[in-house]
Amino acid sequence: MNFFLKTVLISLSVMSIFSCEKDNSNIAEGATEVKNENVFSNREQANLEKLGFDLTTTIKSTITFPDNSTKEYYVDGDTKFPVNELSKLDAILPLTEIDASTELNEKLFSALNLAGGNRVYTIAFFDFNQQYQRQAIGQTIWAFNTILDTSVQLKAVFANGNQFGTLKRDISVSYVYDIGPAKAIADFPINNMPGKNIVVSYKPDIVATYNTVGKFRNLMMHEIGHTFGLVHSDYKAFPAEVTEAEGFGIKHIPGTDDSGLDLNSIMSGSLELGDRWYTNQDIVAMRYLYGYVPR
Ligand SMILES: [Zn+2]
Repeated sequence: MNFFLKTVLISLSVMSIFSCEKDNSNIAEGATEVKNENVFSNREQANLEKLGFDLTTTIKSTITFPDNSTKEYYVDGDTKFPVNELSKLDAILPLTEIDASTELNEKLFSALNLAGGNRVYTIAFFDFNQQYQRQAIGQTIWAFNTILDTSVQLKAVFANGNQFGTLKRDISVSYVYDIGPAKAIADFPINNMPGKNIVVSYKPDIVATYNTVGKFRNLMMHEIGHTFGLVHSDYKAFPAEVTEAEGFGIKHIPGTDDSGLDLNSIMSGSLELGDRWYTNQDIVAMRYLYGYVPR
């Protein structure tokens, strides 16, 4: 890689914002038990690579939900995967063995698993009662359902944290006090379902980065994108992932362009939150993955 490009990539990574920054030094109360690649078994490492997780930055972390239940996750940046589900990836071949010629320098990407199509998924928001949040969530659901126009639709419900253990839903969005530098962390799809949980930090300095309608909508659209299998559009902005491009566990989505550094997509992981909506590329990507159903 030439020096100039490297410099650009490194400066981009410094701005990285969705916690996709590779700084785990901050991990505190909400996230415990920091581990690294040296302690992951070979099988764990192989499966984490299928998720596109960077082994040098992935940690194991226990997340506490509003009903005080806990679950263990592998966390990399703002994406996570349940520890008890990882073995389900054993049967999936690494991307390099599926198609050695796959171009990895493309723009929009999906994880290896997706949610099932042709259905309405219920997404429950626990304790999101502030006006800017309700407005942002309304816009998020509207955009997902009527701008993307795919065979998957979302139905939002609002609930109290004490209903976390009992309320039926497909995706939950809830608060965790401190998830390190992350604003929020989302799961990728598994078992033919969207990622199950999005947790949102409510550490005051983090809240200050998302507490407007536009920014919170941007955050929700981005994290929901992960739960439906979208990977960062600008993964090349993260140096470690550039050097590990070989075998990187992502699939290019046909019909989307090839910059690999796209910062406009809602799936950009290296920019400050802003008043963003889906781009044409995001629409093409989601319609490719889930089917266009004009309404
Ligand atoms: Zn992200």
